[in-house]
Amino acid sequence: MNRLRRYAGALRKYTKHNVIVLLYHRVADVTQDPFELCVTPDNFSEHMDVLRAIGNPISLSQLNACLRNYKLPRRGILVTFDDGYSDNLYNAKPILDRYEVSATVFVAAAYVGFRGEFWWDELENLLLRPGTLPEYLEFKLSGTPFKFKLGESAVFYSDEQHHQYRSWNFREKTLPTERHALYLNLYKILRPLPTAGRGEALEIIRGWSGCTSAPREAYRPMTAAEVQRLRHGKLIEVGSHTNSHPVLSQLPLDTQREEISGSKSLLEDILDQPITSFAYPYGGDADYTAETVGAVREAGFESAFSTAAGLVGKQSEPFRLPRYVVGNWNGDALARRIRRLLYE
Ligand SMILES: [Zn+2]
Repeated sequence: MNRLRRYAGALRKYTKHNVIVLLYHRVADVTQDPFELCVTPDNFSEHMDVLRAIGNPISLSQLNACLRNYKLPRRGILVTFDDGYSDNLYNAKPILDRYEVSATVFVAAAYVGFRGEFWWDELENLLLRPGTLPEYLEFKLSGTPFKFKLGESAVFYSDEQHHQYRSWNFREKTLPTERHALYLNLYKILRPLPTAGRGEALEIIRGWSGCTSAPREAYRPMTAAEVQRLRHGKLIEVGSHTNSHPVLSQLPLDTQREEISGSKSLLEDILDQPITSFAYPYGGDADYTAETVGAVREAGFESAFSTAAGLVGKQSEPFRLPRYVVGNWNGDALARRIRRLLYE
């Protein structure tokens, strides 16, 4: 009876023809990854193997066409990447090619060719690398004063501590040191700021930290030539992820429009082809509004993706398509999750 019920359940899922959209950021092997953005190349290979074995990898163009026709494929799975890290070209593309899996990379257009790091990476590097920081951090942003005391014990951060806490991530309830507390505090302050304010704050924190080392090569966003090479071939499509990766809901509508349409035209100039899809930065329910959705539609996109977890069905709103964030799991762990989504 149980088996029969399971079978009926599986059949229902089959006939529903849902699509799973997976969200990756980076394919890289790094020492610490507090926001869990990286999947190692080995795990990513296993993931693509799994998708080929139990799913039906589709491209963004296929998904867009399917949504237009209200007809979705069986066990369809779309691989997406956000942000536009150079490791997408050097580490992910060869693996996608090997398994012939399509993917779409949503690029934050103003970061293309940027010699520094994405702001969240730089903040991590300034706060959570071994060395000495001043005990007090005080600054003013648009007249609002901020004051932090790092505490004597966290002024010096040793190589041993760095090694010991390298697997810490933001979801953990306990903070290993005051540095981690300050890092999360600053992250929360910087995240909703408009681009200029964020840059200003980061410059103050950089100056305070005394850090003079060059940006980390492994964290580099793609150059325009790299975006072109990434797009080259049949498997990879490029979508827009705004210009400067702001929290769109925090911006006036005209600035949102500039971020949305501006990034579309910048990427179209780089690739000389239409950019048809968009991903909301951060992508949570509070990170964009109905106005944002309207602006994305008006800019001429066909679809847009959030980071809300869920399956894409034929009734899904094309401008609020859900995605599943993928962690640094091995192939078996990913397969278990996908089977659960597809068959249960
Ligand atoms: Zn992003």
